[in-house]
Amino acid sequence: MSDDLDALLRGRDPHASDFKDLGVTQLAESMNLTRSALDGKWCRACDGIWFGLPFEVECPVCGSRRDVRRRP
Ligand SMILES: [Zn+2]
Repeated sequence: MSDDLDALLRGRDPHASDFKDLGVTQLAESMNLTRSALDGKWCRACDGIWFGLPFEVECPVCGSRRDVRRRP
């Protein structure tokens, strides 16, 4: 089992260090996309990172469209 797959099965993004995982957007989920295929975006209101398609800007947890930035 590769490290990436192992990390994926544990629900963690293998490319990120410790962070609060806010999950993925409904759209991404409906397309069966995993975190590694999505952009990680920071939500200041939730103090965590959520994952979505490049054009998505709305936090799936709080709905905030503010302070959304792509993870460096
Ligand atoms: Zn949020």
